[in-house]
Amino acid sequence: MLARPLLTWFDRHQRPLPWRHSRDPYRIWVSEVMLQQTTVAAVVPYFHRFMDCFPTVSDLAAADESEVLKHWQGLGYYRRARHLHAAAKKVVTERGGVFPDDPEFWASLPGVGRYILGAVLSQAFERRYPIVEANSLRVLSRLFGSRLDPRAGEGLKWVWRTADEVLPAERVGDFNQAIMELGALICTPTNPKCSECPLKKQCVANRDGLQANIPPPKAKKERVTVREVCVVLRRNGKVLLGQRPPSADRWANMWELPRGVVGEGETVEAAAVRTAAEKLDVIATVGEMLATVRHGVTRFDITLTAVEVRTRARKIGEGFYTAWRWVDLTEATECPMSTPQRKVVAAILGEP
Ligand code: SF4
Repeated sequence: MLARPLLTWFDRHQRPLPWRHSRDPYRIWVSEVMLQQTTVAAVVPYFHRFMDCFPTVSDLAAADESEVLKHWQGLGYYRRARHLHAAAKKVVTERGGVFPDDPEFWASLPGVGRYILGAVLSQAFERRYPIVEANSLRVLSRLFGSRLDPRAGEGLKWVWRTADEVLPAERVGDFNQAIMELGALICTPTNPKCSECPLKKQCVANRDGLQANIPPPKAKKERVTVREVCVVLRRNGKVLLGQRPPSADRWANMWELPRGVVGEGETVEAAAVRTAAEKLDVIATVGEMLATVRHGVTRFDITLTAVEVRTRARKIGEGFYTAWRWVDLTEATECPMSTPQRKVVAAILGEP
């Protein structure tokens, strides 16, 4: 009932994306991991660069993690890159670098949840597995007039069940892609173009004029303001970078100017001295305020100030960071670094 009009529309109107028209599980997998939490427009250049550098799963498995993170730099949610790398190693070690048509094996890979599993198995192997993500949950909710919140609880269960029930016998991968594409291009969150929609005759929301009410709006999460400081310690014309530990909640294994949170009622200067003591194990005095940048990540609004510090100590102690590196500031961003850190380095250098 849905497949024919939807696939006809998809064949005519789909965007020419670099991972489309490929049955290569590696390309599909990498693209789907990148597309989680990130827009198509942002992913395309990253996908090209990543594929140029790691054209096969064996190339990815053999790479250093820092090299992989470097190619992910700017996409955010770096845990995805680490999982991708770990999963590539497992594919090479356990399956000789060949992706199997085996749902159990795929489900055992780090970072592979229900969405990635369905996306890869349906597109690469034509398996009848559904997928649900932000676009498809909107399309299915409107199409069937579901008033449940499809993002959680019963509503989420309903949308997965429905995504499974509507799967056709053939062209399953294309069908999954087509629902997502319809959500991206036609059944948009606001002002859907129902007159151009191939499913307009079947659609309950269109019939009842409920497009604006389905799905129900997301509960707004309050944004949290965070003040942070990073210390710039220079020696012989170089600055000190620390490598975050693998267990860090964010930006694990990435490099940064040693960083700390500015406490409530604390000055940036005091926080810099405390950060030097806690993270570098040195007694420091504060020099110049070098730069301040702002960065929004998930629901956090971060203000990061770089402060020059000086110390008489020759030795940097062990603390939070797992490794230290002295680098020219102009070359700092050759190490994998978070976006706020790259921004602050650029600001110190006076780059736009
Ligand atoms: Fe979405 Fe409108 Fe199409 Fe219904 S008819 S699926 S609301 S674009």
